[in-house]
Amino acid sequence: MAVRSMTLPANKKYVNGHKVDPAAQPKPSNAAELISKVPPVEIDGPATVCDGGRGPLGHPRVFINLEPHRPVECGYCGVRYVQSHSH
Ligand SMILES: [Zn+2]
Repeated sequence: MAVRSMTLPANKKYVNGHKVDPAAQPKPSNAAELISKVPPVEIDGPATVCDGGRGPLGHPRVFINLEPHRPVECGYCGVRYVQSHSH
C-alpha cells in the first residue's frame, strides 16, 4: 500500500470545503531532523528516566543509562541525554 503524501498539490485551493492557502501549510515534518537540533539534556548522574513529558504527549517511562560525553537517545521520543560530568 502506497503512503500518500500529506503535502497539498499547489493548485488545490479547497480542502473539505475550506479555502486553503498551500503556501501557509506546514512543510512535511522531519521529526528526526528537528529533534537532532535539540541539544542533549544534561543529567548530573549515571542514569535518568524519560517519560516524554507529562500528559498525552508522553510515553511509558524508560530507564536510560548515561555515559559521559556521549549523548544517549530516548528510544521513544528521541530526546537525547548526556551525563554532565563524570564523578
Ligand atoms: Zn523519551
